[in-house]
Amino acid sequence: MNDLRELYQEVILDHNRNPRNYGVLDDANRKAEGFNPLCGDQLTVYMLVDEEETIRAISFTGHGCAISTASASMMTETLIGKTADEAARIFADFHAVVTGVDSSADIGKLAALSGVREYPARVKCATLAWHTGDAAIRGLNEPATTE
Ligand code: ZN
Repeated sequence: MNDLRELYQEVILDHNRNPRNYGVLDDANRKAEGFNPLCGDQLTVYMLVDEEETIRAISFTGHGCAISTASASMMTETLIGKTADEAARIFADFHAVVTGVDSSADIGKLAALSGVREYPARVKCATLAWHTGDAAIRGLNEPATTE
């Protein structure tokens, strides 16, 4: 696994080149900013969450390395249509896999990012969007940080 080709899989490069759901979400009712000082990754996550706490729309803006951008892009695809509770579970499973705490959790397509567990500094790049998304869902106004 200690091979950069394992880390930068085609799916990650593709999401970095063509981020999905990139841009400001004009009718967002939740928003959070995130910053990973270790790498310089900066993100804003926008969500439209309905009365049932279901994520009806989600987008992000910002700039960062390929891993942080790909992770944000994949997160938006994963969380659309999910409830806050479902999103929290997916985040917990994703976090467990990329930190190597529990690599058996089924995270579907997000498994493309699991290679970061071999690179502790990159784990923060991969989880930044998720910390930020989590803050947005919970309506926190404090900027999310990986520190
Ligand atoms: Zn990064």
